[in-house]
Amino acid sequence: MQYVGMLRGFTHQYEKPVQYSLKLDKTELPCNEWIGQQLEIKFLDEIRCIHCNRKIKKTYNSGYCYPCFIDLAENDLCIVKPHECHFSQGTCRNEQFAHTYCMVPHYVYLSISSGVKVGLTRKGNQSKRWVDQGAIQAIPIAELPTRQMAGELEFELTQHVRDKTDWRKMLKDQADLVELLETRDELFPLVTQRFQPFLIHDAIISEFQHPKINSPDKIKTYDLSKTPIIKDRLIGIKGNYFIFDHAVINMRKFSGYKVSITIEEHINE
Ligand SMILES: [Zn+2]
Ligand SMILES: [Zn+2]
Repeated sequence: MQYVGMLRGFTHQYEKPVQYSLKLDKTELPCNEWIGQQLEIKFLDEIRCIHCNRKIKKTYNSGYCYPCFIDLAENDLCIVKPHECHFSQGTCRNEQFAHTYCMVPHYVYLSISSGVKVGLTRKGNQSKRWVDQGAIQAIPIAELPTRQMAGELEFELTQHVRDKTDWRKMLKDQADLVELLETRDELFPLVTQRFQPFLIHDAIISEFQHPKINSPDKIKTYDLSKTPIIKDRLIGIKGNYFIFDHAVINMRKFSGYKVSITIEEHINE
C-alpha cells in the first residue's frame, strides 16, 4: 500500500492499546497494523505551512511558516508558559483564540511518561495531551477556570515535581514508576491557599498502553530533512514517535512535509 500527502501528526482512539492514526492531509490512516512491517517514508521535497498552506523551505514550531509563527496566538510564548499570559495587558495576539482556548477550564495533572511530572491541559483535551507525551498513567489534580491560573498552579508545583519528559527514557519504556495518588496527596498540603478550592480529590487514574512489539535499547533519530528516504521495520508507536528497529522519528515535528508512505507487507519466515 502507498499513501501520499502532507504530514499532520497523529490522532488517537483511546482503546487498549491506544489506536493511533497518522494524518496525511485530511485522511487518518490507522497505523497500529503497520507494526511489524517494513515501512518506507519518502520526503517528496515539498513543505507547506499547516496553517496558511504557503510553500516554505523550513518549518517553525512543528509545521508553521515564519509569519504564522510570529503572528498566531497558538505560537505565542504564553502557550508554553501560561503563567506569563498577557491578555490582561491588552497584548494578546488574538482575543478570539484566547476566549476559545485560554479563558476556559483547564486541568493541572500528574502523569508518568519518563517519571512523574506535572502539566496542564484544556479540560476535554487531556487524553490527547497524555498520549502525545507517551504517558502510561495520568490523573487530573486540579481544575482551574483559565489557562493562566492553571499555569500559575503548575509553576508553583514545579518546585516539587518536574514538568519535563525525558523522551529517550519514555521511548525505552524505562519510566520511573511512582504511586500517583501518593504523590498527589503529598503535594496537596503544599499548595498555596489561593489554589486549594480548585483541587480535585476524587479523580481516577487513566492508563494507556502504547502499541509495540519491542522496546528500543538505544535511541537514534531519523530526520527527514537529512535522510529523505527512511526504510525500516516499525516496531512501535508511542507519543508522537514511530519507533523503528534502527531509530525513531518524531512524526509531529515533520508536520507540513509532503511524503509518500509505503507499507511492504511481507511474511516472516
Ligand atoms: Zn503560514
Ligand atoms: Zn496568550
